[in-house]
Amino acid sequence: MYRKSPILRWRNYTDRYKLHGYKCTKCGATYLAKKGVCNCGNLDYAEMTFSGKGKIVSFTQIHSGPESFEHMGSYCVGIIDLEEGARVTGQIVDCAYKELKIGSEVEAVFRKFYKSGEKGIIHYGTKFILKF
Ligand SMILES: [Zn+2]
Repeated sequence: MYRKSPILRWRNYTDRYKLHGYKCTKCGATYLAKKGVCNCGNLDYAEMTFSGKGKIVSFTQIHSGPESFEHMGSYCVGIIDLEEGARVTGQIVDCAYKELKIGSEVEAVFRKFYKSGEKGIIHYGTKFILKF
C-alpha cells in the first residue's frame, strides 16, 4: 500500500501552496480567502481549487525588495485575474520585464520563495510564468 511521506506533507497545505479558494453557491463569485458575506448577500461557499491560468491586469518591476528576496536582484510582480474570477498578486518569473504586457496570459507554477533561519529552511509558493 502506498503511504504518503510525512516529509512531503507540506506540499498538500492547500492554503499555503495551492491556489485554493471559495466559490459563492448563489452567484458563483470566487475568492482566494474566505469572505463573510458575498457581494450578493449569500453566506454559503463551496471550496474550490483555481486552475492557475489567468491574465495580467497590471505589473511592475521591484528593484529593491525585502531582505529575503535580495538574492533575486530585480524581479517582476503582477496583479492577475484568474480564469475563474478571483484576483491575485504574484511574482512573474522566467521572463524579462520588457516581455510583460497587460492582458498577457500567465500560468501558476510552484517555486522556491526564499531560505530562512540558520538551517536555511526553504519556503515555497505560487508564482506565475508567461504562457506562449
Ligand atoms: Zn455571491
